[in-house]
Amino acid sequence: MSEEQLPQVVMPQCQVERVLVGQKALVTGANSGIGKAVAIALGHSGADVVVNYVSGADQAQEVVDAIQQCGSHALGCQADVSREDQVVAMFAKMKAEFGTIDILINNAGLQQDAPFDEMTLAEWNRVIDVNLTGQFLCAREAVREFKRRGVVPDVSCAAGKIICMSSVHEVIPWAGHVNYAASKGGVMLMMKSIAQEVAPYRIRVNSIAPGAIRTPINTDAWQTPEAYDALMTLVPYKRIGEPEDIGRAAVWLASDQADYVNGISLFVDGGMTLYPGFATGG
Ligand code: NAD
Repeated sequence: MSEEQLPQVVMPQCQVERVLVGQKALVTGANSGIGKAVAIALGHSGADVVVNYVSGADQAQEVVDAIQQCGSHALGCQADVSREDQVVAMFAKMKAEFGTIDILINNAGLQQDAPFDEMTLAEWNRVIDVNLTGQFLCAREAVREFKRRGVVPDVSCAAGKIICMSSVHEVIPWAGHVNYAASKGGVMLMMKSIAQEVAPYRIRVNSIAPGAIRTPINTDAWQTPEAYDALMTLVPYKRIGEPEDIGRAAVWLASDQADYVNGISLFVDGGMTLYPGFATGG
């Protein structure tokens, strides 16, 4: 089949199952892109959601409103995930308002790209601070609460679930983005090490590793037809990912349907990690 004859893109139409009723979730960086879609998907599935943002209170309020419209509680909470004091205060606010936490989505992230020999220490540090240290700080607060509270059988089989938003770049090297790829490689072994340590407490820790998803972080990669076509040479499934693709994966991974899934990276990438350059025989 030639490229022109490829089947048209049909997006999934899925029935929403309310598999997270009674659970309290925190999504970092939830006022944009993937975090926004995940927060809304969790809300549609019955979870009450804290919508974290660092700037853009209006966007965060829109996400809160969308979650409330489907009958779940939602709350906006401003905090920079790279700042320990602000993370501790955010978890304290969540505890005061929602009583506890069952699901942490460690999503906040950014890119500060530069050729390697021009990358400043500030660019290196900022990406590591937000993408890796921010996930550490939030995961630590969540694990403290999960261990304190333990399993509540009417709510979930697990004492808590953490989902780290990683990237295909936890395994695919990325020239010009050394700080970002290093942060995501770090997330992979941080996630697995935490998972190994806290599994006996019935705490599940996993990652989602998205491929190319249509969000503001990567507009250059999909906004023009030329850029989109170039991107598609990297995606065997021949469509860009939508934030809702990640939302559905997060709901499943956070739910008891995934109760025996622990310490994995779930690649949601249309096959980007299948070495598409070898599709024609290498
Ligand atoms: P985005 O820019 O739309 O969203 C990033 C969010 O993180 C924003 O809400 C931003 O305000 C927030 N954020 C940044 N710094 C923060 C801080 N210090 N404290 C709190 N929040 C902060 O981009 P996105 O694509 O939705 O990215 C979300 C996550 O998905 C990131 O971790 C990113 O690395 C990852 N990811 C994205 C793609 C993609 O193709 N879009 C692919 C792989 C992984």
